[in-house]
Amino acid sequence: MGGRDLLVVPFVDLQAQLRHIHSDVDAALRRVLERADFILGPEVALFEEEFAAYCGTRHAVGVDSGTSALELILRGLGIGPGDEVITVANSFVATALAISYTGATPVLVDAAERTATMTADAVEAALTSRTRAIMPVHLYGQPADMDPILDVARRHDLAVVEDACQAHGARHRGRRVGSLGTAAAFSFYPSKNLGALGDGGMVVTSDEALASEIRRLRTYGQAAKNQSVTVGYNKRLDELQAAVLRVKLRHLDSWNAARVSHANGYDELLRGSEPIRLPVVRPDADPVWHLYVVDVEGRDAVRERLAQMGISTGIHYPIPIHRQPAYAELGYAPGSLPVSEARAATCLSLPMYAELSDAVIERVADALVDAVRR
Ligand SMILES: *Cc1c(COP(=O)(O)O)cnc(C)c1O
Repeated sequence: MGGRDLLVVPFVDLQAQLRHIHSDVDAALRRVLERADFILGPEVALFEEEFAAYCGTRHAVGVDSGTSALELILRGLGIGPGDEVITVANSFVATALAISYTGATPVLVDAAERTATMTADAVEAALTSRTRAIMPVHLYGQPADMDPILDVARRHDLAVVEDACQAHGARHRGRRVGSLGTAAAFSFYPSKNLGALGDGGMVVTSDEALASEIRRLRTYGQAAKNQSVTVGYNKRLDELQAAVLRVKLRHLDSWNAARVSHANGYDELLRGSEPIRLPVVRPDADPVWHLYVVDVEGRDAVRERLAQMGISTGIHYPIPIHRQPAYAELGYAPGSLPVSEARAATCLSLPMYAELSDAVIERVADALVDAVRR
């Protein structure tokens, strides 16, 4: 035959995950169908309790997406036109969109070269009299460098809004993300570490007043039925999604442990393969490897060779937020945030999901080394 077998390696495999939990998911969906109680029923309430306990916060509020979770936290904090919120340029665009929706201005800073997360120094340099909040992103599942960021926030009396949309279950100094700042946003987009069968999101916080305001904002600004006290929204988590997410939450720690083991596998197999730069983890962080991202020169050609070998990869993200056409008016010139721009050209996300096998990890690592050398 000659040539390698073209067994395709997907980037993520949601079918493999669902096969494992098929009967529990079925039962959960049937439970909701039988009650026909589709909006803010018992599954949402129970999932909120369970997810708050999981994160180590007092409150959780289910919403319709991670983007909405970020937006409603900012609105709940009273942030709006004239205010500035500092976040990183190398994130998913939704991080900045949520700021823009409130009328506030996203102020974009560069990331640390090694860990790709926000640095307190960059935040400090971007502070103005209009700054109201800092929004660190736990990118790829690794907590941002929270101690110095929280310190800047304390000294300048700013809120810290964690974008934890990629980091369900990650820890910083042993504490779960979501419990580190003023409030945090999670996404349940299907491919996230904890994913729904569609869109969904969650706010977690231990601030009772903020949680209550976000509860009103997500459902027409109502303090009681048919009594709107603010101009709120329809941004609720669906009962069907909550029922499925409750099933999946029970598996999250073991899925995350599998991701950690796969990341260790990639590390071992790729260490010393010189032009490939491996992800760097801070000693105070326990990441959950939403993504395993290497950096290579000539990334697009490497990616194409991997595709020819049947291996799907991703790019997170090809255009940093400050270079998105939608944000041209913010006026960031090319070269203004050099780490984010350099990484956009070199980052390559390898297949990562709990159900990967050691054999597949080995095949991906071999193929990558091969693709880089050619
Ligand atoms: C997925 C994601 C979001 C947005 O979440 P949605 O549920 O898709 O709205 C925001 N920030 C980051 C870092 C994300 O990865």
